[in-house]
Amino acid sequence: MNVTFACPVCDVPDSVAIDHPIDWECVNCDHRMRLSAALPSLPACAVCGNHELYKKKDFAHTLGMAILIIAIVLSTVTYYWYEKWWSWSFLIGSAIIDGVMYLMVGDVVVCYRCDAHHRGFLPNEAHEAWEITIGERYRQERMRLERQDAQKLEVRSPESKVEGAADVQRPTRDP
Ligand SMILES: [Zn+2]
Ligand SMILES: [Zn+2]
Repeated sequence: MNVTFACPVCDVPDSVAIDHPIDWECVNCDHRMRLSAALPSLPACAVCGNHELYKKKDFAHTLGMAILIIAIVLSTVTYYWYEKWWSWSFLIGSAIIDGVMYLMVGDVVVCYRCDAHHRGFLPNEAHEAWEITIGERYRQERMRLERQDAQKLEVRSPESKVEGAADVQRPTRDP
């Protein structure tokens, strides 16, 4: 069982085993956190303790896209040389490879709040596929926190106010 997550302070990613409790320290900014041992059914996020988690296939979409793009390039070349059977073979072959890879990979359980990716846990019915309404709620929460952080920075360093003003979203105009 392990978890991959971004440091809450500097966003540098790390991956650790969580079969037992550990005192984690960021390699980049020395931020420390106590991570408790996760239960095999993973009722909550091992990093932030959030109970809302979703599962998805542990499939590298970039790899799938890379295979598809290579197949398209190869099939275009063979099509140009009137080798249309080769063109079809590349396209259908890449689709089959993508499909088999997709079926073979296991699930990864992801935290809506901190995006920690948990691997090697038992299937749990509480973990459902990503839901847009829940995802949107957490996206709004993240935006709100980012705005608060930006405001705090502005208060701390008034000389950077002009520069910061462009980044901070303009207040919503009331009708
Ligand atoms: Zn850090
Ligand atoms: Zn979390």
